[in-house]
Amino acid sequence: MALVVRVGAARAAWWRDILQSLLPELEVRLWDDPGDKAKVDYAVVWQPPPGGLKTFPNLKVIVSMGAGIDHVLRDPELPGHLPIIRTVGPDLTQRMREYVILHVLRFHRRLPEIEASSAKKEWNQIITPTAPNRSIAVLGLGNMGADCARHLAAIGFEVHGWSRRPKEVQGVTCHHGPAGLRDLLKRAEILVCLLPLTPETTGILNKDLFAQLPQGACVINVGRGQHLVEEDLIPALDSGQLGGATLDVLHVEPAAEDHPFWTHPKILLTPHIASLIDPEAGAKIIAANLKRFMAGEPVPDMVDVAQGY
Ligand code: NDP
Repeated sequence: MALVVRVGAARAAWWRDILQSLLPELEVRLWDDPGDKAKVDYAVVWQPPPGGLKTFPNLKVIVSMGAGIDHVLRDPELPGHLPIIRTVGPDLTQRMREYVILHVLRFHRRLPEIEASSAKKEWNQIITPTAPNRSIAVLGLGNMGADCARHLAAIGFEVHGWSRRPKEVQGVTCHHGPAGLRDLLKRAEILVCLLPLTPETTGILNKDLFAQLPQGACVINVGRGQHLVEEDLIPALDSGQLGGATLDVLHVEPAAEDHPFWTHPKILLTPHIASLIDPEAGAKIIAANLKRFMAGEPVPDMVDVAQGY
């Protein structure tokens, strides 16, 4: 029995070796050197090339090396019968929480302006509201979104969250559905997108949504690049409708050298590192899930493929 692993070349051998040590009952192979594909039962993948997974005729399960499965589902030739396990866990949630709190506080305390003043040796004392007087909205109250919302509330922020179905999250005012979104947007001074990418959420961060936010609101996108209509962002920033944007994800990653987002003064780009999976911690989660699957036990991280996330 064999497992094939597909991840960026820089970390592929690292992943293979750790997975091999944790799953000695399987032969762990790299995607680019898969050997006899008929002997591969398990695929652990990040952004598999379209048409690639169907070339393994005896696959039993696909493991997404991340919380999202959009990078697997986008394959038009994906063998539709295969179950998909996603990779989530405390390490990934902790990393996302750190990133979101960092960037919310950066906007809340107007750090970009302080830094700009500091670069000009200006003593710019800005008085900002305290957290209870700042309203934050988190789109997506899943594993990551609910955790971030709860921790932002624990700092003292007024936090609103949005999901598809009604939810309860401690300290958070929860909204759902299209009417809930309208309610939440009108008070969202800092908006965090932690949605999965689905046909319903693609392009949700667009000029119509920006127009519903309070003037000068800031946007943090840690979901997927395709949540943002990229051409709508700079006009919203330049008009003052938006006060700033932090983008961890883009349509095309890495961003091209001449992408206008790199140099816009109100945009901070980070290289998809909000919750980058660490092979040491991630492989343990993946191995535990695969062992459950092989033993015929329920796997809590099994995705509802029909739901799309
Ligand atoms: P989950 O699948 O656990 O939760 C998704 C949440 O989004 C749920 O609350 C769900 O609602 C809500 N949702 C889905 N569709 C809609 C919709 N149409 N309208 C309103 N709400 C909707 O996701 P995670 O929290 O684990 O992760 C979220 C996303 O974050 C991932 O899919 C991935 O794209 C991104 N991510 C980014 C990383 C990075 O480093 N930048 C790292 C990890 C993840 P309901 O509760 O009703 O189902």
